[in-house]
Order: sequence, then structure tokens, then C-alpha cells
Amino acid sequence: MQAVTQSDSSNSATLNERDALWPNYSPPRDLVFTHGLGTELYTESGETYLDFLSGIAVTAFGHSHPHLIEALGAQSKKLWHVSNVFRIPEAEKLARRLAEASFADRLFFANSGTEAIEASIKAVRGYQAAVGRPERHRIIGMSDSFHGRTIAAVAASGNPSYVQNFAPTDHGFDHIAWGDMAALDAVITEKTAGVIVETVQGEGGIRPLTAEMLGHIRQVCDAQGLLLILDEVQCGVGRSGKLFAYETFGIEPDILASAKGLGGGFPIGACLVSEKVGQHMVVGTHGSTFGGNPLAAAVGNAVLDLVFEPGLLENVQKQAGTLRAGLEELVSEFPAVLSKVSGLGLMIGARCEIPNVELMTALRQNRLLVGRAGDNMIRLLPPLNVSDEHVAQALDILRQEVRRLHQS
Ligand SMILES: *Cc1c(COP(=O)(O)O)cnc(C)c1O
Repeated sequence: MQAVTQSDSSNSATLNERDALWPNYSPPRDLVFTHGLGTELYTESGETYLDFLSGIAVTAFGHSHPHLIEALGAQSKKLWHVSNVFRIPEAEKLARRLAEASFADRLFFANSGTEAIEASIKAVRGYQAAVGRPERHRIIGMSDSFHGRTIAAVAASGNPSYVQNFAPTDHGFDHIAWGDMAALDAVITEKTAGVIVETVQGEGGIRPLTAEMLGHIRQVCDAQGLLLILDEVQCGVGRSGKLFAYETFGIEPDILASAKGLGGGFPIGACLVSEKVGQHMVVGTHGSTFGGNPLAAAVGNAVLDLVFEPGLLENVQKQAGTLRAGLEELVSEFPAVLSKVSGLGLMIGARCEIPNVELMTALRQNRLLVGRAGDNMIRLLPPLNVSDEHVAQALDILRQEVRRLHQS
């Protein structure tokens, strides 16, 4: 590639700049956001968009939250990075706070959801080896799952489209159809080490497991000496209306992967484990150069401040109730466009009877950003502190476009 002699200091991404990226994403080429505030995103030309995608459940408190800016700014003036060969008080504090508020006793910090999943997989295999059962290394997952994009994470996902062209595909995972509890019992062998499931399935179609399913999985794991990994990368950190979604279902995992909302937009992931598992993850078993560095941990602590603020989880439940009720109305009025509402808290799916991309695009043209998910769904992931007004605005745009598409 030719040397670049001219530097472009403006924010605008020209076509040629984008062409140097892998073609693995396909963003709308004429849309570039320059800044954001709360639930709103702004373009260079001054258009305002309602952000009900939140960077896929990442900007949990919207854009430019003063408390997060303050935390990142203050830490950036003190210390960015020292490596985990030294103590990192911000990370110790974040670990302690998450442990105190959850089932967990020990945490490992990473930079992404996939890495939190990798750590979870290693924790399962490491545990079984440490307790003298090294032959137990296989992990059971559910179909249509999403656990990230590394080789092990795609192998865990049970989604053929993620692994095709990346053979070999057997990295020690077996799969059952989502929610098929009879199949779970049948697929366990003497080599099975654990089970991995999304408490609320995200990419594959917004679909919470039920208390019955999770209760059964927990019981089977206990009876057979298997460990249960819950993937709460998307549904965790307040999005479900609880700190972690498993609290809704009356069971506890052995291992939980967190990320996305945990950093509010700053990359951080975490693998939470019970002492039974954590005691074996000793020096040499795992590590990360960046994971839990002072910047990430400082922002993570600031995010937790906001999650723990009185009224925040109530807001999640309230706004979720309003959004779901509004969507249910659209389902009953316009069944040729929307056919089902699902989800938990502010992780909401609406199944489309037209191609989901068509509705998603129509909403974007009306300045409402939503995502899509499997099972032909659109996916709503607004910030946890979204206001009544923004929810009402979003529902207005949804109604307008669903009605229009219903008539066309
Ligand atoms: C996004 C996601 C991941 C992967 O996280 P990355 O930060 O993209 O690596 C894993 N599991 C679930 C459920 C997710 O939604």
C-alpha cells in the first residue's frame, strides 16, 4: 500500500479510508456519527438519531455520561496501564464489588466478551483436570447460540454459519437444540465437563431460558459433577432488570461471562467464578496483557456506581414494560408485520413477518436505531437509563413505520 502523505484531521470517513478495513462489516456508507448524548446520536450534518441499539448493549448509560467521562478522565491523568504483574487497585475493587453482588468469589478481567468466554471454557477444563477428571473436557451448548468469534467461542455456539470455512470444527463442544432438556440428558457422556448457555439468547433471537430449564440444567450439572457457564455478555449488568439475569430464575451458575455493558463503551470483559472453580486458576493457568487495566477498571467501577444507583433497575423494568406493551399493541394491530414480542428487561425482540432488515432500515430512515437478531427479529437495546420521553418517541416511530409497512 502506498504511503499516506496527507493526514486527514477531520472526523469524516471517506470512502477510500473505509476500503482498507476488512469487508466483514457492512455499515450504511452515508451515515457517520460524530458525537452523542444520552440516548441521542448526532451526525456531522446535525441530524439526531435515537439510539435503541447502544452499540449492541454496550453503552449501557448512553453516550457522554458525565460520571463515566469523569472516571475515565481522572484515571487517564494518573495511570493507564501497569500490567497484571503488579497490583491494580481499581481492578481489585471492581472484582470485590461484583463478587459481593453476585454468586461469584473470584474474577478474571479480559477485554471483550469472547475472552470472558475463553476464560470460562478454560476454567471448566482446568477445574475438571484439577479435581482429577482430565478426561472430562467436552462442553455442551445450545443451538443458535452466540458466544463470540474466537475459534473456541464459535465452536461453542452451535451455529453452523459461524464455523463453516473455519474447519476443523470439533473443539470439544456438543450441542442440543435450544431448550431441549431431554436431549441434554442424552448427550452427556463420561467426557462431558460442563454446560454453556446464554441466560437470554441474544444474536440467535431474543429468547430467555425459563426457570424450569435453568433449574433442570443446574440439577443435572450438580448430579453429574459438571460446571454451568452462563453467558451474560449481553444480558448482564442490569439489562435484565437485575444485576445479572440468572437472579430472575432462582439458580446460580459456577461461571459467568460478562462484558458489553460492563464498560459502558470502554472495552472490558470479566469471568466470574465461585471459589470452587477459582481456587484452581493459579499462576500460569491464564492471563491477559490488557485485561482489567487501570483505565478499564476505573470505568467499570463508575458503571457499577450507576447500576447500583437507587431506581436504576426499577427504570429498566418500567421502560421495558412500556416498550413491551407498546410492541404487543403493534403485534395485535399489524400482525402482517410483527408477530411476537420476547425478551427480558431492556433486551427486547420483536419477530417480523416481513424481512427484519426492511423494518430496521425503515426505522433508521426515521432516525431510530435498532438491531436485528436471529429468528427474523428486530432487537431493542436502549440505554438502561432511557427516559419516558425517548421510549415514547421510539414507540411513535415504530408505530408509524409498522403501520406503513402493514399497508404497503
Ligand atoms: C457480544 C457477545 C459475545 C462476544 O463478545 P465480544 O465482546 O464481541 O467478544 C459473547 N456472548 C454473547 C451472548 C454476546 O452477546
